Amino acid sequence: MDMNLSPEDAAFRDEVRAFIADKLPSEIKRKVETGVKLAKADFVRWQKILFEKGWIAANWPKEHGGTGWTPMQRHIFDEELAAGSTPMLIPFGLHMVAPVIMAFGTEAQKSHYLPRILSSEDWWCQGYSEPGAGSDLASLTTRAVADGEDYIVNGQKTWTTYAQHADWMFTLVRTAGEGKPQEGISFLLIDMTSPGISIKAIRTYDGGAEINEVFLADVRVPRANLVGEENKGWTCAKFLLGHERTGIAAVGRSKKQLARLKEIARAEQSGGRPLAEDPRFAERIASIEIDLMALESVVLNTLDEEARGNPPGPGSSLLKIKGTEIQQGLTELLFEAIGPYAAPYIPEAFEPGWNEAPIGPDYAMALAPTYFNWRKASIYGGSNEIQKNIIAKMVLGL
Ligand SMILES: Cc1cc2nc3c(=O)[nH]c(=O)nc-3n(C[C@H](O)[C@H](O)[C@H](O)COP(=O)(O)OP(=O)(O)OC[C@H]3O[C@@H](n4cnc5c(N)ncnc54)[C@H](O)[C@@H]3O)c2cc1C
Repeated sequence: MDMNLSPEDAAFRDEVRAFIADKLPSEIKRKVETGVKLAKADFVRWQKILFEKGWIAANWPKEHGGTGWTPMQRHIFDEELAAGSTPMLIPFGLHMVAPVIMAFGTEAQKSHYLPRILSSEDWWCQGYSEPGAGSDLASLTTRAVADGEDYIVNGQKTWTTYAQHADWMFTLVRTAGEGKPQEGISFLLIDMTSPGISIKAIRTYDGGAEINEVFLADVRVPRANLVGEENKGWTCAKFLLGHERTGIAAVGRSKKQLARLKEIARAEQSGGRPLAEDPRFAERIASIEIDLMALESVVLNTLDEEARGNPPGPGSSLLKIKGTEIQQGLTELLFEAIGPYAAPYIPEAFEPGWNEAPIGPDYAMALAPTYFNWRKASIYGGSNEIQKNIIAKMVLGL
């Protein structure tokens, strides 16, 4: 694949860059740049700006309100979003459940849910994992029992990112107990305002509260909310995970972090010279940059395949592993670059309205929490060990 920008692509990049510079609210940009927590309203506000421009669903087909962009345009768009310090697009609706609804949903489900995802009217969360079912997802025990026009759902989900904000949860539930564990699972959409749902936050060791436990006690869910066939939800689940893993590669965000790392390494001193001139540190930066360039070419190939009608398959596990190793490697180098200034822990500094002087340089404040937060990347979306098993079996045929 030719990675040089054609004149049309360069013009497209300039158009996206100018749009972001013009339309991204400065207070949101500042929050992203300084690591201050974004409120739900910040994410939604930015997503609505993109929606109004017609740019919210770069990965959707045109018939459903997508952009119809080429793989290269989608890649450029992602890069510009990251470079422009925009909030990340919440993937659960746009990138995860929407492709499943398009592929397996009824016409009624498509016409109800897809426009609401596009306009950010509904915020979605992912109810896959359970206390006893993570890597071994097929052992999940949350049960849905048919009762007239409804299912009655009982069980518990966990690690549910942003459940506290969600209007809807797409979830895997057990609808049959016989046969292989994968065969009795169904894919169900649950309204988070349904009676019987309760949410408990899980605190993470960077001080954040992104993830939750979700308890379901006799929750009535219309059978019309089943996507695909009953007991065939595993097919939807796997289809969705392929999309989730491709998105996790996040090349644009890593490029932004790399640029930041280089800037900090030029500003920090080591042995009387800029850290960037320390041969050991410079070598580590170069090594991660080379990995990132290689990952970028694989992502572009994957997007190209997708555009030809070949959805991401088990190969997307490679993107997940390499993408998250790079993300974690960058946060490690950033953390090391600031040395002792990584130590102060001031959680209030990341809440809106904090205006004390930082300890150390401005850029130091968010680096330690970011480092701790990103340990999650090799776990979520299916742990990296499991991705290696998938590659061994499904790609290498071992
Ligand atoms: C920050 C964060 C956000 C998340 N958000 C969501 C969400 O929104 N929705 C959702 O449904 N889930 C979410 N998850 C859950 C995530 O998908 C699971 O944590 C993950 O699949 C691992 O499952 P587990 O935590 O049960 O660990 P386990 O499956 O118990 O694994 C523990 C360890 O053993 C290793 N291991 C397990 N089995 C094997 C094997 N066969 N071979 C080799 N090694 C193995 C794993 O790699 C891991 O290191 C999130 C997780 C995190 C950390």
